Amino acid sequence: MEITIAKSAGFCFGVNNAVNMVYNMLEENDNKCIYTFGPIIHNDQVVEYFTSKGVKTVESIQQIDQKGHIVIRAHGVTPNIYKEIRDKGLILEDATCPYVKKIHNLVEEKSNEGYRIIIVGDKNHPEVIGINGWCNNNAYIVNSVQDANEMSISDEKICVVSQTTITKEKWYEINQCLKDRFKNLEQYDTICNATFKRQSEVDEISKNVDMMIIIGGKNSSNTQKLFDISKKHCAMTYKVQTSVDLPLIDVKKIKKIGISAGASTPDWVIEEVIKKMSELNNQEITKKDDNQGEINFADAFESSFVRIQTGDIVKGKIIGFNANEVFVDLGYKSDGIVSLQDYTDDPSFVIEKEIKIGDEIEVFVQKVNDGEGNVKLSKKQVDAMKSWDDIVKAYEDKTPVKAIVVEVVNGGVIASAKGVRVFVPGSQLSDRYVKQLSDFLKKTIEVRIIDFNEKKRKLVGSARVIIEETKEIASKEVWGNIEVGKNYTGTVKSLTDFGVFVDIGGVDGLIHVSELSWSRVKHPSDVLKIGDVVEVSVLEFNKDKKKVSLGYRKNEDNPWFVAGQKYNVGDIVNVKVLRMASFGAFVELEEGVDGLVHISQISNKHIAKVEDVLQKGMSADAKIVEMDIENKKISLSIKDVNPIDPVEEKSETSEKSDEVNQTEHKEDMSVTLGDIVSDSNEE
Ligand code: SF4
Repeated sequence: MEITIAKSAGFCFGVNNAVNMVYNMLEENDNKCIYTFGPIIHNDQVVEYFTSKGVKTVESIQQIDQKGHIVIRAHGVTPNIYKEIRDKGLILEDATCPYVKKIHNLVEEKSNEGYRIIIVGDKNHPEVIGINGWCNNNAYIVNSVQDANEMSISDEKICVVSQTTITKEKWYEINQCLKDRFKNLEQYDTICNATFKRQSEVDEISKNVDMMIIIGGKNSSNTQKLFDISKKHCAMTYKVQTSVDLPLIDVKKIKKIGISAGASTPDWVIEEVIKKMSELNNQEITKKDDNQGEINFADAFESSFVRIQTGDIVKGKIIGFNANEVFVDLGYKSDGIVSLQDYTDDPSFVIEKEIKIGDEIEVFVQKVNDGEGNVKLSKKQVDAMKSWDDIVKAYEDKTPVKAIVVEVVNGGVIASAKGVRVFVPGSQLSDRYVKQLSDFLKKTIEVRIIDFNEKKRKLVGSARVIIEETKEIASKEVWGNIEVGKNYTGTVKSLTDFGVFVDIGGVDGLIHVSELSWSRVKHPSDVLKIGDVVEVSVLEFNKDKKKVSLGYRKNEDNPWFVAGQKYNVGDIVNVKVLRMASFGAFVELEEGVDGLVHISQISNKHIAKVEDVLQKGMSADAKIVEMDIENKKISLSIKDVNPIDPVEEKSETSEKSDEVNQTEHKEDMSVTLGDIVSDSNEE
């Protein structure tokens, strides 16, 4: 005969915690009065044992007539019960399972946010009654697809949670129906992982055995669910409370037997059942073992559990993950959890993309019980152990290593190189002064290990030496090939009032402020910032003085270049009067492109002064009569479009001056934008 015992059989974390709480109180032996609110677990043997030791089970707080300690079991209770306990002056010993407590908090929060709560579970189960209390007993409780289908379609905001012990199958089926009835539905699968694991194991084992024994209390809902799951695959499934209930079957004739137990079944009850089966089998030899030949039921039970302790490095299989944690099956009673920060230092790591369920990983056991019944694991620590030798070799070979800055410390930062911590002093982070060390946080840097203490396992790294060496090589390359007009892609390194320094590959060149833009720039920071990657061209250089002047503004952005493409002689344009001169008015076609309307081109009549007809800031339509883009000259005529008449009569003198003006116009066509700027400055 071959037997398979589910690794997850027996007490779950929550039950273990509650039972131990009562054991410990009894052990203190100070004659305190101990009550439990309802049977501490759904197991008659355990409850009877506690009763024999004086522990009283009460169904309501009113039943209590003596001061004492009251233990809330793993199922949890409503807020009203806490109040009654306080009002009665009892001492609260809260063994509510942390997984159940999480549901209480979620339900309370969502209910306060205006959500209607749906609990998928059994309305008479104490856990469900407790959860409902945290949303003012206002939850809809559904336990079947039929219940869900009977609900009316509604727009209200819904938050669905589950009783911790229901099957995944039930959860999915019911939620499928709920989705059709409620548009604003938020689902929170709160099935306990221990339950899920137990159910999955039974599902698997029952497919491959001839008989299944499920051990557990008659009122235990999770035991009943294990029984139901097993029954689907294995007709010979029996639910037993103790060895006394074992069926009277000749087990010798059965080839394969599977055994599991509910979350409230103590190990000694499981052992007793196994022992009884050994007797029924009438022989000790029962299970094949590859190395040791055949072993008995009791040994099989023992060997079915993986034993782990803090500091172990173990292998496990990834069974799930969320945004912050990876769940690992270690073959141990409890699952392992690796938090994201214990998984990797890589800030670009995305759990959903990089974690695959079913993959095997090696992990370091940090704590066998993290306080919530799970094993706390670290993958980073295993990586660091494996990487240590590589990093030491990199120190000996002087080869660079990639590291992620994970922490700012006194005088520098800690960078993680494949999990190995390397101290990088502030002065070694860059070849320039670093103002804010925190700017480097989560960034990947390349460092050379410059100091190493094997004994203290301390490493010091420098990014600076690598940067300086790289720059030295690059700068030789630049000076060897530089020429006027050559284009480079560079990075802005610093800004000053007079320009911007750009690293074009180991050499810093200057873009003078006047070369930053075609329009006037108040300060270089209006155009560029440190870290910008820019395309520049060499305007001039001096190899001896190691100086390079760079150009940044592009010809195609030059407004005169654009105007040359855009306008033609004869075009009518709307212009703005910028300023007046004795010989005409300077007007703006667009930002950076100005032209001249000679006084003779304003009106058909004589004009004594330009100001007699034009005002600064006014607009007028004008015809382009001449264009010289290369020399930045455009001549326009208003009178060809819409002549503006002067207010005063034209006099003889003014007729003369008209002639003079005609001559001046020809000469003044040489006035450019530059002249305007210098004229304005003189003013
Ligand atoms: S089954 Fe899960 S939720 Fe329930 S008591 Fe055990 S660990 Fe807690």
